[in-house]
Amino acid sequence: MTATSQQPADLGALILTLNAGSSSIKFALYSVADGDLVLTAKGQVEGIGTAPRFLAKAADGTRLAESYWEPVEAGFGHARALRQIWHWLVETAADERIIAVGHRVAHGGERYADPVLIDPKVTEDLAALIPLVPLHQPNNLAAIRAVATDLPDLPQVACFDTGFHRGRPLVSEQFALPRALLDRGLKRYGFHGLSYEFIVAQLRELAPDLATGRVVVAHLGSGCSMSALRDGRSIETTMSFSALDGLPMGTRCGTLDPGVLLYLMREDGLGVNDLERLLYQESGLLGLSGISNDLRDLKASTAPTAAAAIDYFIYRIGQHLGALCATIGGLDALIFTAGIGENDPDTRARICANAAWLGIAIDAAANARGDGCISPPGQTPSVWVIPTDEERMIARHTLAVVGAAGLPAA
Ligand code: AMP
Repeated sequence: MTATSQQPADLGALILTLNAGSSSIKFALYSVADGDLVLTAKGQVEGIGTAPRFLAKAADGTRLAESYWEPVEAGFGHARALRQIWHWLVETAADERIIAVGHRVAHGGERYADPVLIDPKVTEDLAALIPLVPLHQPNNLAAIRAVATDLPDLPQVACFDTGFHRGRPLVSEQFALPRALLDRGLKRYGFHGLSYEFIVAQLRELAPDLATGRVVVAHLGSGCSMSALRDGRSIETTMSFSALDGLPMGTRCGTLDPGVLLYLMREDGLGVNDLERLLYQESGLLGLSGISNDLRDLKASTAPTAAAAIDYFIYRIGQHLGALCATIGGLDALIFTAGIGENDPDTRARICANAAWLGIAIDAAANARGDGCISPPGQTPSVWVIPTDEERMIARHTLAVVGAAGLPAA
């Protein structure tokens, strides 16, 4: 292992957020000052299971600490990654100032929509949802249990990716399957809720009139989904029962005829694990191109499959955009967010050109700058780039839940 380390600025009481994904744990530290949250440091352990590396940065981007391990060092799983984050917090004396930990949790099921203070009953309920999200929920729970074991008195708050989408119309939530399966929880939950919630809060600040209107948000990152909102509430969304549905993603397939699965099971003898690997890890931009899951690599490639993968991505986004507009009766604003949505003007321009039939147009210079409104003044629908911040959303919820529970908050 190689490592460097220095201290973050000392800013009083802290909230720690943890976002445990399939191969990474992201964290952020916010200092609490007069009810406001100020980012102090953020970072991640990524490459869990392959070549783990730890990076912590100050709010201004300065590197505070960095560590690398040998590829596939024995036993380096999520628990080890979390210990590394905690080790750094102890080393920098930040651990003593943490008043609560907020977690991104993939699934809240029927019972949990709003963020909740975690106790053994909540943990048990969330563990019962593992069959619904087998690749995400176990990692979220591992982080919760690790903190509970080491620091049983530290309040922990679960914030759900499904929560924002709860309460949608039944026609949006159900599949056309026998009713008994709906009653067993086989329904279209929707994900990326913390991101959408943050975007709605930002839109209320930036353009309050639009926040009450008909809005489609395109969260285009390594995971991709879109949501149709009316009055700041989710009406329809492209991800559904699992994080596979809807748009094609870096390695996930997006909407797929279920007959394809039946065919592969029958003709090729594929089992659950084979299908899971195919749909989650070998499809999407990676599967289409045979080159990479990262749009930047595909744009840099001259291979025809790279261009074809990008064409497919743009085409499906346009198709889902049209369908989402139909669910909210038109469009007042289109918002781009997440890694691709925030950073790739070409992709935004192509999506918007295909959506000219909706009255969408963008200003080339504003699109190149990529911040705030990127459509010409007065154009309806307007088009926006709004950076998402799921960690800040988790920290806000955590502070609110801890405060409401009467626990000590600075
Ligand atoms: P996220 O999951 O939101 O962190 O987004 C990560 C993804 O954003 C990466 O896998 C890239 O495909 C994509 N991305 C980030 N920056 C750019 C960029 N400048 N151009 C195109 N894609 C980008």
